[in-house]
Amino acid sequence: MDLNRLWQNTQEEFKIAVSEATYQGILAQTRLVSLKNNIATIGCSNTYFCELIEKRYYSLIKEVIDRQTKKNNSLVFVVDFQEKKEKKEKLGPLFKIKKTLSFDKKNNGFSSETGLLPYYSLDTFVVGPANNFAHAAALGIIKNPGGAYNPFFVWGGVGMGKTHLIQAIGNAITEQHPQLKILYIAAETFTNELVSALQNKTITKFKKKYRTCDVLLVDDIQFIAGKEYSQEEFFHTFNNLYLSGRQIILTSDRKPEEIQPLEDRLISRFMGGLTVDIQPPDFEMRLAILKQKSKERNISVPEETLSFLAETIKSNARELEGALSQLVNKAQSSNQEITPDYARTLFGFKKKQLRRISSRSVLAKTANYFSFKTKDLCGKSRKAELVIARHIAMYLLRKDLSLPLVKIGELLGGKDHTTVIYAIGKVEKQFSVNQNLRHQITTIRKSLR
Ligand code: ADP
Ligand code: MG
Repeated sequence: MDLNRLWQNTQEEFKIAVSEATYQGILAQTRLVSLKNNIATIGCSNTYFCELIEKRYYSLIKEVIDRQTKKNNSLVFVVDFQEKKEKKEKLGPLFKIKKTLSFDKKNNGFSSETGLLPYYSLDTFVVGPANNFAHAAALGIIKNPGGAYNPFFVWGGVGMGKTHLIQAIGNAITEQHPQLKILYIAAETFTNELVSALQNKTITKFKKKYRTCDVLLVDDIQFIAGKEYSQEEFFHTFNNLYLSGRQIILTSDRKPEEIQPLEDRLISRFMGGLTVDIQPPDFEMRLAILKQKSKERNISVPEETLSFLAETIKSNARELEGALSQLVNKAQSSNQEITPDYARTLFGFKKKQLRRISSRSVLAKTANYFSFKTKDLCGKSRKAELVIARHIAMYLLRKDLSLPLVKIGELLGGKDHTTVIYAIGKVEKQFSVNQNLRHQITTIRKSLR
């Protein structure tokens, strides 16, 4: 098979294996320079990409090339100047700003009728393993408000996209069901309005406002914890709407049962419908979010810098967005070219986050979480709980450490690499629908940092 054909087939497989953003931004920028004596030399456009691709995608590229050539190959990554030169000519200057960053506040203000911000849309909401369950439920609600998912309770840490998601649901319902009355409110505003209504003796008006809508979206409901009067009023509002089949959507920074102090009757109401969580985004989602934000703001930042940010800032979408703005603004004002090195000077303090986690600690922490010994985790027993723990360890070794499949198999008691692929696939599939599993993985991940 000639090199071009082989690489074309390989690229087709990459498209299936990774997200669109990763493919376009990273893997599509590579070239098979040569394949001799079972050594495949892969050309990348610069040293940063060489390191990134080797670290993250070595085993994927190897698997695909091995399958195509039916041989066991090794990979070498080189900076491919020829490729770089061609691309520079095609792309022109590396960095340009086409428009100012800020939104036009006048056109994007809250709607006084619904409290919604029109620019929050599902079209700009990046979906990945961390939030696809919440996204799927959102689509169901938009189709049939007041249907099966009522109330819909979304929880997750700050900056995970809860407000974006529920605002987008509100906007989509406004569009698709114009006859419905929609109301979005932050729980804090609900409380403040209630206090003024009591002071001004306008409580009847207040009650009417909240009890006559068809879709009520309350953001950050944890705010009513410890506020007796707000809880009382919200309980009656909730019942009123719920019993007449209206849709209620709530967000919170924690699960219903962890909102304290909160009356039990409210906790059980909140849990009576569909409760989903949004988890921190993985690398591919972070990269996709950065691309989405660059696109929305009409700025172009080189791929390698976006991947650097996605690698470095792992917490949440809000921080990613903040870092992107900061980077672009600073580069603009100091007339600097945006490169990973420049980004590193700004976010150098984040380097600590890049600390490498060892495979030994992944095994130890996973075993510890399930109260097993590492020796048993890496052993042969087929006890159900051990098998699950083993699958999770394989998943983490692959996702967080990018270890080759063969190496993972070796670490976990000499399993074949196809067993490892099967296990990781199984966890991946379950990750978006099984909250218990997601919780287990998140807890183990936290203990590794
Ligand atoms: P939360 O309400 O969970 O604290 P927000 O909804 O305010 O988070 O999100 C913070 C910022 O990150 C917003 O600008 C939002 O548009 C963006 N964001 C969060 N998640 C996503 C996502 N999945 N796709 C695109 N943008 C996102
Ligand atoms: Mg919010």
